[in-house]
Amino acid sequence: MYTTYTSVIIPCYNEQEVIRESYRRLTHVMRVNFEAYELLFINDGSKDKTLSILQELAQQDPHLKVLSFSRNFGHQPAVSAGISQCAGDVAIIIDADLQDPPELIPDMVRLYQDKNCNVVYAVRKNRQGETTFKKLTAKLFYRTIDYLSEVSLPLDTGDFRLIDRKVINAFNQLPERNKYIRGLISWVGFRQEPISYERNERFAGETKYPLRKMLRFARTSLLYFSNKPLRIASSLGVAAVVIGLLLSLWVLYVMVFKPSELVHGWSSTLIIVVFFGGVQMMTIGILGEYLSSIFNEIKGRPEFIIDDTVNISSKPLVSEPT
Ligand code: UDP
Ligand code: MG
Repeated sequence: MYTTYTSVIIPCYNEQEVIRESYRRLTHVMRVNFEAYELLFINDGSKDKTLSILQELAQQDPHLKVLSFSRNFGHQPAVSAGISQCAGDVAIIIDADLQDPPELIPDMVRLYQDKNCNVVYAVRKNRQGETTFKKLTAKLFYRTIDYLSEVSLPLDTGDFRLIDRKVINAFNQLPERNKYIRGLISWVGFRQEPISYERNERFAGETKYPLRKMLRFARTSLLYFSNKPLRIASSLGVAAVVIGLLLSLWVLYVMVFKPSELVHGWSSTLIIVVFFGGVQMMTIGILGEYLSSIFNEIKGRPEFIIDDTVNISSKPLVSEPT
């Protein structure tokens, strides 16, 4: 039995098929292993029965707390809200769909105590029941972002992790609006230890991360964790200038030594125009991406808006002995 007051942060978007089961499994693990805990569900503007199921469950159980958003703000803002509102000495971030096994939580806390560290991040040994496309893009994504990023980011790691109060407080100080949470938690530093696990199949329902959301997620992580795209843009510019200079030298050479051949070259002109046009558009595009992120940040809109809460603002709760 652990005495550490533990918060579990669970973002949910349209999870009516799984929410009862995740509540049941989480409660079982937490009751048996922890003296004090809270299950903090963040309802990210679900359009199905997720909120009403949570409200119903919360009536019987003061450990269950809910933050409900005014609309769908996204997975990362939901986790962010959980980190800002949780009351525990340590917090565990976990998906609602039981892909991350709740049974790993006691092991994470044990490792946290044994190693005396501040973060325990869960590394996926393998992922079951996911499409080849998802696995492939995820693998590629984690490697690219680690290569591009200025801080080193652990590979094949989602948001499933334990963070302690020091990290929670440091995280809550960060003013940026668009948060790539797993990156930021690496960025804050402190002592971080891995634990490996098998990622299961989703218990029920389907993924709430369509391609559109995956791309937005990749964009934020890239723009907020790397300035290299800007450098790539300037390198492309330099390369283009060099190629341009070489080409002019070549034209000059032909003019002087082989003037009869000068009428040719329509196709090469066309290629050059298209190529440099492309380089310029791409460079402007990259600039535009950073500009729009800066614009979003200076607008200073909140990351999320809370519509309603359930069982929030109570003291640490002691679970019934089992
Ligand atoms: N989620 C959320 N808001 C969203 C999308 C997802 O809160 O806009 C939650 C979702 O309910 C789940 C977690 O984020 O608890 C991970 O989503 P999902 O399992 O659909 O993603 P996948 O595992 O397929 O990458
Ligand atoms: Mg999932």
